[in-house]
Amino acid sequence: MDASQTPADPSLDPGDWREFRTLAHKMLDAAVDKMEAARQGRVWNEVPPEMKQSLQAELPIDGHGLAATQQRIEALLPYGIGNTHPRFFGWVHGSGTPGNLIAEIAVAAMNANLGGRDHGAMYVEKQVVKWCRELFEFPETASGLIVSGTSIATVIALKVARDRCLDFTSRTEGVGGAPLVGYTSTQTHSCVARAFDILGLGANALRKIPVDERFQIDMEALKTAIATDRTEGRTPFAVIGTAGAVNVGAIDDLEAIADLAAQEGLWFHVDGAFGASGVLSDRLRPRLTGLKRADSLAFDFHKWLHVNYDAGFVLVRSEEAHRRTFSDRPDYLKGADRGLAAGNPWPVEYGPELSRGFRALKIWAQLNEHGTDKLGRLITRNCEQAAYLAEQVAARPNMEVLAPVAMNICCFRYAHPELTSPELNRLNEEIVIQLQLQGIAAPSTTIIHDNTAIRVNITNHRTRFEDLDLLVREVGRIGATLAAEAGQS
Ligand SMILES: *Cc1c(COP(=O)(O)O)cnc(C)c1O
Repeated sequence: MDASQTPADPSLDPGDWREFRTLAHKMLDAAVDKMEAARQGRVWNEVPPEMKQSLQAELPIDGHGLAATQQRIEALLPYGIGNTHPRFFGWVHGSGTPGNLIAEIAVAAMNANLGGRDHGAMYVEKQVVKWCRELFEFPETASGLIVSGTSIATVIALKVARDRCLDFTSRTEGVGGAPLVGYTSTQTHSCVARAFDILGLGANALRKIPVDERFQIDMEALKTAIATDRTEGRTPFAVIGTAGAVNVGAIDDLEAIADLAAQEGLWFHVDGAFGASGVLSDRLRPRLTGLKRADSLAFDFHKWLHVNYDAGFVLVRSEEAHRRTFSDRPDYLKGADRGLAAGNPWPVEYGPELSRGFRALKIWAQLNEHGTDKLGRLITRNCEQAAYLAEQVAARPNMEVLAPVAMNICCFRYAHPELTSPELNRLNEEIVIQLQLQGIAAPSTTIIHDNTAIRVNITNHRTRFEDLDLLVREVGRIGATLAAEAGQS
């Protein structure tokens, strides 16, 4: 019988702390080994069938103990998405840092709940909120909340917009078919329409405004849409701009949207999931001046600031509107001036969750260890790398750039004069799958003007210019092989 199972001490603590310490050190070593070797080897490994099988086991009635558990955890390490590798270019993923391992150890040890109350972790979160206000030049009265990501940050921000528009009666009465409508561009991430759905407005209440040749929202079309809705008796309440759209990285004219929102009395929300971090970069800052005029901003620390998953943030200019949207303190959550129930207002008053983990520490640690200068320089470098990739592609006769490089995303394709458009689409899909399967690189795909594009997003502090040379070479190699095969069939 395990010593921890004796009737005298039926807790979940180890019976043998020395053994525990050895296993914990073993895990830490394995984790550091993985981080140290992040540049090496394949980008992505398919999960072996035996591992998938072993994760279909029955619910354990008798535990298997720590040593067996540690072994199973360690075995998982090679099977991540691949975003710790310098040639991971898919979707928009941050690459994480070794430093965050240390923060996460402390997070697990403290096991803090940040719904509220007065304890050390809360001051770390308050520090992060203050830093976010500084970062985006929001007033000292602005409020913020650390969340899992931009998707939920968007729901929170747009609930504030919705409830403020309905004088907060929607909190008790529901939206009752109030004809609220909002606006964004066709390039905006799907999380905005999803937020409209979740908030009971319906995804169709989000008008998708066309974009110009730089993939930015067409301001004239936006004005027309607002006027039409007003004429037809609907109530425009919000306009959502994007700082870094997911497809090609476009940045809307945020200053123009801010002007229009002020003129029309609309809530101005910005999805800055990765692009908002550009305020740290000398190269991007001039294009993001409109951010500081937003009523709310949703963004992620886990993308271009490389905090390990997950860590997002919602910043709201009006603390009052934010609190009136969510605050609801029943007797058992009553605050106090002193003791553990002090420290008001609590985070639970700014979002839907009561129990919340200590994400603040890894965010704080990242900023504290590296500082904004270095993080900003790495963002600039990623933009230079995307521009460099576009040059390399343009210099090749059998490749073409499909969209202007606005920031850190380059969309291009392998081209061949003898292949039809559907054939080229299939071929470029296959190139991306081959790059992934062969472990060479992990771009994703998107569609640009009906053409399948190899989409390379660089939010990766480990990427070097030679990684992009290798990518172009390999796209050329795989493309030529596939084109030859297509010609033969
Ligand atoms: C990633 C992303 C989102 C969604 O953010 P999550 O953190 O994944 O919830 C929204 N908008 C843009 C532009 C994104 O890149």
